[in-house]
Amino acid sequence: MTRGTSFLGTRLVRGAWHWLGLVGWAACIGLVALMPQPATAQADEAVALEGRLGALRELSGADPNKVQALLPALRDDVVRAGLLGLRLEVDELECRVFADLDLSQAIRVAAAGVAVGRGVTDAPSSLAWLRLRACHAAVLMDGGDVAAGERELDEVLASSTADEFVSARALALMERGTHRSRMGEMIEGQKDLLRACDLLKAPAGSDRDLVLCLGSLANHHKRIGDLDEAMAMLGQLRARARARAARFDESIYAYGMAEVHFLRDDWVQALASFNEAAALARAVRNNAGLAYAEMGIAGSLRRMGDPVQALSHVDKALQLLDETADPGHALRGKVLRARVLMALGRAQEADAELRPLEPRVRAMKHDWLLAQWMAARAETAAALGRWSEAYQSMMEGRGLNDRLRNQGLSEMATRLRLQFNRERDLAELRSLRSLNEQGDALRRTQWVAIGLFVLLLLASVGFAAAKFLQAKALKVLAATDELTGLPNRRAILAYAEQQMRLAGDTGKSLSVLMIDIDHFKRINDAHGHAVGDEVLHHVGQVLPSALRTRDRLGRIGGEEFLVVLPEANAARAIAVAHRIREAIAARPLARPAGKLRVTVSIGAAQWLARSERIDDLLARVDTALYRAKADGRDTVSLAA
Ligand code: GH3
Ligand code: MG
Ligand code: MG
Repeated sequence: MTRGTSFLGTRLVRGAWHWLGLVGWAACIGLVALMPQPATAQADEAVALEGRLGALRELSGADPNKVQALLPALRDDVVRAGLLGLRLEVDELECRVFADLDLSQAIRVAAAGVAVGRGVTDAPSSLAWLRLRACHAAVLMDGGDVAAGERELDEVLASSTADEFVSARALALMERGTHRSRMGEMIEGQKDLLRACDLLKAPAGSDRDLVLCLGSLANHHKRIGDLDEAMAMLGQLRARARARAARFDESIYAYGMAEVHFLRDDWVQALASFNEAAALARAVRNNAGLAYAEMGIAGSLRRMGDPVQALSHVDKALQLLDETADPGHALRGKVLRARVLMALGRAQEADAELRPLEPRVRAMKHDWLLAQWMAARAETAAALGRWSEAYQSMMEGRGLNDRLRNQGLSEMATRLRLQFNRERDLAELRSLRSLNEQGDALRRTQWVAIGLFVLLLLASVGFAAAKFLQAKALKVLAATDELTGLPNRRAILAYAEQQMRLAGDTGKSLSVLMIDIDHFKRINDAHGHAVGDEVLHHVGQVLPSALRTRDRLGRIGGEEFLVVLPEANAARAIAVAHRIREAIAARPLARPAGKLRVTVSIGAAQWLARSERIDDLLARVDTALYRAKADGRDTVSLAA
């Protein structure tokens, strides 16, 4: 590339960079607009930690074991950052996750968080604290400490009347409703649950909270015998979980659906569904879920008249269950085992298994469990000939069953009254699903938008680069003589002027040569215009060999060439001119028809410093050239 074109190129490169810079800024602004803007480094960290918590929350539906493993580190970071409210949120998530995995751990974590959060004053932290307490109360009650749990729920409900604490209030109502429903207070329980889910359906409510609530409501419907309702809700929740790849949640809803089949006395379908639930639980390493499913399998097999198989499954379930972590289900499993043993005719063993359970079963205050225990007790006592004990147990069990049934019946009336709520639940659940799908679609759209943006950026860069190269090529083209490939008139004159300015600044000399092919018209006439072109090209090739690197040659028009010789005085210019003349004369154009001898005449002129303009310089060198022609051609002449 010649100096002139590289100079122009530099300007173009600058132009392209300017343009690229604009695109880059637009890209940055676009990306930044897509991100939340933390005001300070502290806020930055809080946002990052909140992001981690959100991710774990989302993950808890798919892999709570992993969440459980990642939570301690998050809590450490949150505590180090001094974010108390966030710490309480971490505790709540851990409480919820452990409620499904390890009840005693859930109680420990929640209790510690509740103690730490006592005395918080700002609203967000207070909300987190109240929500944590609702979970704490739930796990306390699940763990058998009903009185403490109830007390805590009452306190949460009393402290969460303000609008900003609505989600804590709703969660507390949900837990109270679940507990009441389990205790057999069906009407009160249902009121709580419906109220809780209604509150959580508010636009500001979180999806996870609502799903939790709807799951509790579905279980309640199961308890009151509204099995169609329970099945519909669980089916929807399961579909939602599956759509979100929340496999852990899916396994829980699958288990719930199996239970509904069991409650419908459809043992075959129940067995198949429990097996499916067991497979799902195994796949996500949900040991508690697997234990429940195994228990369901055992229960179904017992009803199907296969106590041998049933026993092996109930044993598997009891092996999997952590008795301290989940005493309620452990008791249920033991009662079931006793009944299976009875079916196997092993009344003594069954009796030995049942007897020590009584105080714990009664302490659970769980009517359904107590009724099961009473029925098993009546069976074993009768088998062992202890008639009065059998009669007593049977009567107490019947009383419990009647109470449960009556609750169910009176619930029928409530259910009718709340029919419109039920319809709304389903509609809400459906819209919730479509909302999730919309969210997914939005996320997909966002990625597509980012993809398109990047594509646009790349296309813009490509376009700019292409434009730049094109412009560069055009500039080169505009400065180049097509026939010889030398700088054209405009380019060589521009260079001459540039060198004149430079020489004017440095005070160094500068000369030019005007070269004209001799009798070129004759060549054209004798051999044709094409050969004339060949001669021009040939001269263009030979001339540079006689020049120094900083000398610049250009075709100024017709068969005339101009050479710019920086830092050359008249003597030096004459020497170069002779070298050129000799080089041309010595190298005729080789043609098939024979060698074609070419000579040139050259005028030389030294620039007369600042006072002389380019036109004057060209006129003088032209005159010198004219004199060289007059001197007989193939000669050099110096301008005056
Ligand atoms: P002199 O020795 O006095 O310079 O004689 P000359 O014939 O070379 O000079 P003259 O100016 O009479 O003729 C120049 C010719 O060059 C006329 C023109 O047709 C021819 N010519 C100009 N440009 C081109 C070109 O690009 N290709 C060809 N083949 N001929 C050209
Ligand atoms: Mg001429
Ligand atoms: Mg000529």
